[in-house]
Amino acid sequence: MSWPSYRNRYLPAMTRGAIDTLPNKDKAFVVLPTGAIEQHGPQLPVGVDALLGQIYLDRAMPLLAEDAPVYVAPPIQAAKSNEHTGYPGTLILHRESLRQLIVSAGRQLSEWGFKRMGVLNTHGGNISVIKSALRELSLDYGMEVQVLSSPYEIDICARERAYGIHANEVESSLMYATTPDMVDPASATCCWTGTLDDPKILKSEFAPATYAWKTLDISRSGVVGDATVATREKGELWISRAAEALAARLTELVS
Ligand SMILES: [Zn+2]
Repeated sequence: MSWPSYRNRYLPAMTRGAIDTLPNKDKAFVVLPTGAIEQHGPQLPVGVDALLGQIYLDRAMPLLAEDAPVYVAPPIQAAKSNEHTGYPGTLILHRESLRQLIVSAGRQLSEWGFKRMGVLNTHGGNISVIKSALRELSLDYGMEVQVLSSPYEIDICARERAYGIHANEVESSLMYATTPDMVDPASATCCWTGTLDDPKILKSEFAPATYAWKTLDISRSGVVGDATVATREKGELWISRAAEALAARLTELVS
């Protein structure tokens, strides 16, 4: 059994007494990672989204001041992935189960004396459920809650920015850099669902009206975007930017 590299901040690695006596618990900030286990094209493992949360934390935690009161709750690894149904390896948690898991985690953090938490989410399909669960935690348990957001600069083309949404250049590069033994770059492929002028069936995730798509409707390979231009070097650069941005955001939250 091994603990994450940030085990001094990882709540399951502490004794109950240590959790009980953590200083400044009302000002502390607890990170709850939510990922997904779902098909990620032929080139990446199905656990990408679950792994990415751990990778961001691995890289960001050492950048925090030693006494920054930031802690990490046990991650929710499988989540709402029903849009990736029909592929082997996709493990779907019903939206209601995900909502209950998040609410249970937050309610118990509140019972242990914490007042502030943020979800570090690495799977777009979870967002609507997370927002609803967080509202419940705020209204019913008085928790100060948020979806953790720490954007960082990513140099990709406009088409990838608009339509590269899954197992794409960014995700593939991040995984090539951080888990090279789990990937198969030779099988990477490209699938565009539209052009910049014509989004066709799949509108941008942020368009005012979106189609309730499932991946099989839009990409046989399961890749949405261009994974053929992903490289380890890009991934190294982006993961360090992502870690710096996350550490800066967490520092700001507990300052
Ligand atoms: Zn993903």
